[in-house]
Amino acid sequence: MLSEQIKITLSEDELPKQWYNLAADFQGAMLPPLGKDGKPITPEDLAPIFPMNLIEQEMSTERWIDIPEEIRGYLKIWRPTPLYRARRLEKALGTPAKIYYKNEGVSPAGSHKPNTAIAQAWYNKQFGIKKLTTETGAGQWGSALAFSCALIGLECKVFMVRISFDHKPFRKVMMQTWGATCVPSPSMETAIGRKILAEDPDTPGSLGMAISEAVEECMQSDDTRYALGSVLNHVMLHQSVIGLEVQAQMKKVGDYPDIIIGCAGGGSNFAGISFPFINDRMHGKDIRIIGTEPEACPTLTRAKFRYDAGDVAMLTPLLPMFSLGHTFVPPAMHAGGLRYHGMAPMVSQALREGHIEATSVGQVECYEAAVLFARTEGFIPAPETAHAIAETIRQAKQAKEEGKEKTILMNWSGHGIMDLKGYQAYLEGDLQNYPLPDELLERAERCMDGLPMP
Ligand SMILES: *Cc1c(COP(=O)(O)O)cnc(C)c1O
Repeated sequence: MLSEQIKITLSEDELPKQWYNLAADFQGAMLPPLGKDGKPITPEDLAPIFPMNLIEQEMSTERWIDIPEEIRGYLKIWRPTPLYRARRLEKALGTPAKIYYKNEGVSPAGSHKPNTAIAQAWYNKQFGIKKLTTETGAGQWGSALAFSCALIGLECKVFMVRISFDHKPFRKVMMQTWGATCVPSPSMETAIGRKILAEDPDTPGSLGMAISEAVEECMQSDDTRYALGSVLNHVMLHQSVIGLEVQAQMKKVGDYPDIIIGCAGGGSNFAGISFPFINDRMHGKDIRIIGTEPEACPTLTRAKFRYDAGDVAMLTPLLPMFSLGHTFVPPAMHAGGLRYHGMAPMVSQALREGHIEATSVGQVECYEAAVLFARTEGFIPAPETAHAIAETIRQAKQAKEEGKEKTILMNWSGHGIMDLKGYQAYLEGDLQNYPLPDELLERAERCMDGLPMP
């Protein structure tokens, strides 16, 4: 093991110069987002919320989009990220499979999210915007945007889902260190927040609620816009640097994945590692691509493909996606970043067209996987990332049973150094699974009755 290669790195010049846009390569056209009247929205409809340069990217079907040099300059702070061969985990599992993981936890905020936060802050700044509002679940996105706004020179206000705000107090301190403001959501600072609190003062909050608050606040001012950390097409685009780098890294060691695995909340890190490979798959490569989600928030595995709003107050356009319903309040499990009710329209379309598969895992299995990973590879993963690790371990065990030397590639979306409360609960034997009962699923879906059908 001493002489074996562990890390596959790229030089700064090898950072991709273009983003890859899967929208150019789907078999069918993507369904458009709709307004409340059921008609496709226009760029002008989005203009109060996003700057026009990002709206253009959101609607683009160009296959390759140049990454501005200044954005590449910021990304070089931590990119290209290393690709690791998980030799010690392989050994512990006794599997003939080769396991690779792309370490997106090395960014200043600790996850893949700065890949899009830097780009979004930069395009807003170019457009003359002064301030960004946003929501955050586990705190990774709020930290990523706070960091990006600090470097690029924008004000930043973050509405953080209450349950995570209470579990992860130091995420707020990180955001404040980068100069952002962070309040728990629902808050008394917006009309929608006050309404939700009047009805349910003890709500754990949800990403759908926090998005409503952030959008409401952004619409109060001309030089403020809103930034979303996942779900939208331009976010999937910005994350494609992950998979593009991996393609170059695997080439260096003369290897290629049979199975690609990512955890899926809104879908962005999964899209980031897999979309460039979906392009390969369309050109004949034999790859299985698996998105893994929590069984407590089973968007890809149990929800219906619908038009639904991105937030509880329905301030966003209606998006064509797998959705549990915009009023869905997921159980208070620890992977806060995977508690979103919907799934990126592009990931949804990839599933419908058969390019990807989906699985779900309970949180106890996730923490078992995360602890095994930490005790073999060393890095402590985010609870979200633990879902990808759990699925990777399942696949590695299956390869062992079948006696096949498969190559498994996983996106290691972020570190868990700020998420130790969940580890504490697991280590003290105080952690349960929350499989979602059918009645709850059916009740949540009812909020979509009457919305236009795809
Ligand atoms: C936010 C987050 C996720 C989930 O978001 P996606 O858009 O599905 O990638 C996963 N892992 C980490 C570490 C995160 O911070």
